[in-house]
Amino acid sequence: EEVVSKIAAGEVVANPASVVKELVENSIDAGASNIEVQIKDGGKSYIKVVDNGSGMSKEDLLLAVQRYTTSKISSLEDIYNITSYGFRGEALASIGEVSRLVITTSDGIESHKLEMVGGKLVKVAETFREKGTTVEVHDLFFNIPARRKFLSSEKIERRMVTEVIERFLLTKPEIRFLFKVDEEIVYNAPASSLPDRFKLIFPEVKSFEVIDNYVNSSVSISGIISSPQFFRKNRSGQLFFVNGRFVLDNLLHLSLERGYGESLVESTHPYAVIFINIPPNEVDVNIHPQKLQVKFSEPRVVYDAIARCVRDTLRKFEG
Ligand code: ADP
Ligand code: MG
Repeated sequence: EEVVSKIAAGEVVANPASVVKELVENSIDAGASNIEVQIKDGGKSYIKVVDNGSGMSKEDLLLAVQRYTTSKISSLEDIYNITSYGFRGEALASIGEVSRLVITTSDGIESHKLEMVGGKLVKVAETFREKGTTVEVHDLFFNIPARRKFLSSEKIERRMVTEVIERFLLTKPEIRFLFKVDEEIVYNAPASSLPDRFKLIFPEVKSFEVIDNYVNSSVSISGIISSPQFFRKNRSGQLFFVNGRFVLDNLLHLSLERGYGESLVESTHPYAVIFINIPPNEVDVNIHPQKLQVKFSEPRVVYDAIARCVRDTLRKFEG
């Protein structure tokens, strides 16, 4: 049973980046306006997420680390109407299974500190702190050497965590984020706007256009695209989100570049942050929590909308 739950934990918790993603999503769900993230050793030895959200009562806290408990579905109807990120109720339990997990939280009335080691609750005590939650994850996979061995280098794990943070910076510009790697501040981003966040992440891009709710049939597109003179040699400066979720889909990149047409010099790849909004029944996102795939019921409609949107937006650079 223990082995089974540790394997199951690996489905949700793949690496430090997936831990950071789950914890920050929880902070956002808790209504936080300020989120601070720190990692050490690429997140392999330490991850900390601090928020000023709703916090938890002692009862909530004890439930939070149990598998398949979530505070986010109270009726069957909710399942069809999920607006919050998580609803599986297994992230914290899974993280607790494969690390030394410390949570301190206050709902503004009571404050508690909980410690879990390899899935075993070792301590719950009263403490004092202001409203909000701090989650600390020590020594990820310390109890599964085979998994720990398969974590990548500090540099690669750090890069993956940074990418997760950058996606939150772009999707939630209204939230203040602080991101520290070891003791060094990588991002200190006050609440602001998408263009400000774009400039923070891609300071090298000196010319870009904002797309504000471009509508084409059932698809609505917002975001930012760079002028074709600003590009990378790969597509790492192009990010796509479908209904608020980051997705990987090669055809989205190709549609974007099709929209640029002749204005692109060969093997150059412009920058773009594209938010696609589409009725939920026309799209299947996150078929698996770790695979960021997307399936459109009418792919052509989406890809053509992107190409057209980009083409129309680019006219502004000429004009
Ligand atoms: P899920 O997010 O799918 O509900 P999690 O395991 O990620 O499952 O979290 C379990 C529960 O713990 C959440 O439903 C929520 O009630 C509580 N929780 C987790 N993180 C926080 C947080 N940062 N602030 C307040 N409550 C939290
Ligand atoms: Mg969650």
